[in-house]
Formats: sequence, C-alpha cells, structure tokens
Amino acid sequence: MKASRAVQEKLLALQQLDSDLLQIKHKSITLPVAKLFEEVSKELAGKRDLLVAAKTERDDIKHELSRAEIDVEQVVSRIERDEKRLSSGQGAPKELEQLQHELGSLAKRRAELEEVELEIMVRIESVDMRIKELESNCKELESQQSELAVKKQGELSDLDLTSKKTSEARSALVPSIDADLFSLYEKIRLSADGIGAAKLSGNQCLGCNLTLNAADLARIKALADDEVVRCEECRRILIRLD
Ligand SMILES: [Zn+2]
Repeated sequence: MKASRAVQEKLLALQQLDSDLLQIKHKSITLPVAKLFEEVSKELAGKRDLLVAAKTERDDIKHELSRAEIDVEQVVSRIERDEKRLSSGQGAPKELEQLQHELGSLAKRRAELEEVELEIMVRIESVDMRIKELESNCKELESQQSELAVKKQGELSDLDLTSKKTSEARSALVPSIDADLFSLYEKIRLSADGIGAAKLSGNQCLGCNLTLNAADLARIKALADDEVVRCEECRRILIRLD
C-alpha cells in the first residue's frame, strides 16, 4: 500500500484523537466523584433502612405502652372501687378484712405494673434518640448526595463536550486520509488495543515498544517514502518521521 508522507502523518493526528476519545471514555466510567456518589447513596440507603426499622420498633413499643397503661388503669379502678366499699363501712367485718387484704395485693400489683410502664417509656426514649440520630444522618447524607450528583453531572457534561469536540475533529480529519489506508488503520485499531498507527522512534515501534532488529530497520529505511510500513512485531502501521 502506498500513501504520501503527509497523509501517513495524518494517521498520527488521527491516532491522537482516537486515544483521547478512549481516555475520555475511560475517565467517564471511572470518575472518583461517581464512585463517591455511589458510596454515599449506598450508605444513605442503609441508614434509611435502619430508620424504617427503628420507627416500626417505636410503633410496636407504643402499642406495648398502651397495653401497659390499660393494665394500670384496670388495677387503679379496682382499687378505687374497693376503697369506696371499705369507706362505706358496709358489710361483715370478715368481708372488710378481705377487702383490706385485696387492697394490699392490688397496691403491690399496681407498683409492679407501673414499673413495667416506666421500663417501656425508657425504651421509647432510647428508640426516639436513635430515630433522631438516624434522621440527622440521613439529612446529612442526602445533602452530600445531592452535592455529589451536581458535581458528577458537571464533570460528565464536561467530558461529553470534550468527547463531542474530539469526535468532530476526527470527522473533519478522516476525509483527508486515503480510504484504503484509513480502513487498514481502523481494522488494526479495533483489534489492537485502540492503536492502529504508531511512530517509529529510532529503532523502536511506539505501538508495541519493541525494537526492530538492524536488518528490518535497514530494510524499512530503504523503502520509498510513500510506502506504508507495518511493524513486524505488532503489525501496526509504522510512521517514519524525519
Ligand atoms: Zn510494533
């Protein structure tokens, strides 16, 4: 294949644009801010789950509290009823004695139930504190998340713009390269890690970084200027610069 030196050198400019595009693509999928955004989102989701669980726990304890309150109320109303009967002085002495005995047990029962009620209230207080902390965690993470989302979007838009400009420059360059040379370049680029053409620097191919042996180098140097040369090692198009 033959192509003028000037056209061959255009392949290097094209290679630069293609390498840039590859780098932009790599950057856009490995943005540190995107990774941070994912981490914060994951942490937020975890805290939200814990918050839902804590609220459910609080609802359950509140039901427990209502039941305990009803228990206390029942005992209190029995005490009141017994006290009324006792103060009325009506009934046989044995009956009154029984009432007094019952009042003693009821007072003990009431104290026990009030103790249970108090324990439940302490538990509500502690779960309330946990909810408050989780709510503040979520709020903090939400604000971090939205800041990161804006930053990520900004960086992605910048990369997108650079990518568009690079693609435009590429489209403008391609028509100035011979069609068969361009398709050879494309074929190699797509099968060789994105590099279709590379400089020959001294005796080294900058595509594969291997050095050419003296015989190959002498043969290449003897070739006409418009001869398209391929690296013997990586088969990429070798561009000889003066
Ligand atoms: Zn090579």
